Amino acid sequence: MTHPDFLWRNPDPRPAYDVVIVGGGGHGLATAYYLARNHGITNVAVLERGWLAGGNMARNTTIIRSNYLWDESAAIYEHSLKLWEGLSAELDYDLQFSQRGVLNLAHNLGDVREGRRRVNANRLNGVDAEWLDPDEVKKFCPIINTSGRARYPVMGATLQRRGGIAKHDHVAWALARQADAYGVDLIQGCEVTGFEILKNRVIAVQTSRGRIAAGKVALAAAGHTSVLAAQAGIRLPLQSHPLQALVSELLEPVLDCVVMSNAVHVYVSQAHKGELVMGAGIDAYNSYGQRGNVHVIEAQMAAALELFPIFSRVRVLRTWAGIVDVSPDASPIIGRTPVDGLYINAGWGTGGFKATPGSGWVYADTIAHGRSHPLAEPFALERFTTGALIDEHGAAAVAH
Ligand SMILES: Cc1cc2nc3c(=O)[nH]c(=O)nc-3n(C[C@H](O)[C@H](O)[C@H](O)COP(=O)(O)OP(=O)(O)OC[C@H]3O[C@@H](n4cnc5c(N)ncnc54)[C@H](O)[C@@H]3O)c2cc1C
Repeated sequence: MTHPDFLWRNPDPRPAYDVVIVGGGGHGLATAYYLARNHGITNVAVLERGWLAGGNMARNTTIIRSNYLWDESAAIYEHSLKLWEGLSAELDYDLQFSQRGVLNLAHNLGDVREGRRRVNANRLNGVDAEWLDPDEVKKFCPIINTSGRARYPVMGATLQRRGGIAKHDHVAWALARQADAYGVDLIQGCEVTGFEILKNRVIAVQTSRGRIAAGKVALAAAGHTSVLAAQAGIRLPLQSHPLQALVSELLEPVLDCVVMSNAVHVYVSQAHKGELVMGAGIDAYNSYGQRGNVHVIEAQMAAALELFPIFSRVRVLRTWAGIVDVSPDASPIIGRTPVDGLYINAGWGTGGFKATPGSGWVYADTIAHGRSHPLAEPFALERFTTGALIDEHGAAAVAH
């Protein structure tokens, strides 16, 4: 049930909650929603230092797919994709979820081998996947330059037809509205500045709006997670980098699928409104500035123009960056931390939008039960000491 006059309340923080979620991006909001919906836990606050979904949630290029290589990743991303398929109806909000197909281009023999292997692995995991040769790529997306003379010739592509895009703002607003309707307090302008830890158990957070006691604290702060965790005495294997994207002026429909190229660092789709939405590679240095270096965008545009000569006179409207939390194996970290009652969901890096519902689902379950959800188990922090890494660099959208 939702309130007819507003999307969500704007409450002041109460002195204590059963669960405090730090970060009001997509993952924090989805976690709050599933804590309430799946587990009946509604005495929950989401603390956001800026405004809801003003971080990576509003800065990403909205690509959704589940065609990752390893069984563990395929399972969690496919769980997420299945949730996406029913999410507009469930949240009673048009998320503009469009399964228009995602191409991952191969430009060299290494890419071809990796792509074919991944198609086979995907199929074994029940994830839809096809391999297209260059002529089939041209048929599927006629505006791609498949000429053999290109500097990075298109030698084939993987295709996931169920992949696509959604409108990120709508996703955040819909999750926020439903979480609020369940009684979750969404508190904006509230920065977490420290943790109170007693006998190795977190009991409260210090915030810019005062102390808030908490039964459990769940980090969902994306690019700022390692800074936060350090305040609880935990050193995380995460590096924070700017990741840039841009949109063009509005165009008539020219591109009806999503095209990604890991090798040349371009991923592009055309939003419903008409603008081309393109993402670049990460800036090489660590930073918390939500802007990036212009040479990264220049290189990405040069590659985009070679792939799509038709874009040569398109004007760029604006560029921006988000801060992505990159883990050593390009896979997320979900689960408990060495501090009792303190949970972590981070490391989604350049690819966590697609995971929004799936991540919220398994994180909420993990928090509710105080142990990892089965889909989250392989993604625990311990893997960096046991060595059981889940290397998804090949399937990640962006090389890093
Ligand atoms: C340019 C770009 C393109 C991308 N493209 C894609 C894509 O096509 N597909 C895909 O799947 N993924 C993509 N991603 C990645 C995706 O956006 C992220 O993995 C995902 O959004 C991270 O989860 P989130 O939405 O919760 O993060 P965020 O929206 O960043 O939420 C974290 C929140 O925590 C808040 N916070 C931080 N510190 C504190 C504190 N101390 N106290 C309170 N609040 C705090 C921040 O203000 C922020 O709002 C892209 C990212 C970028 C930057």
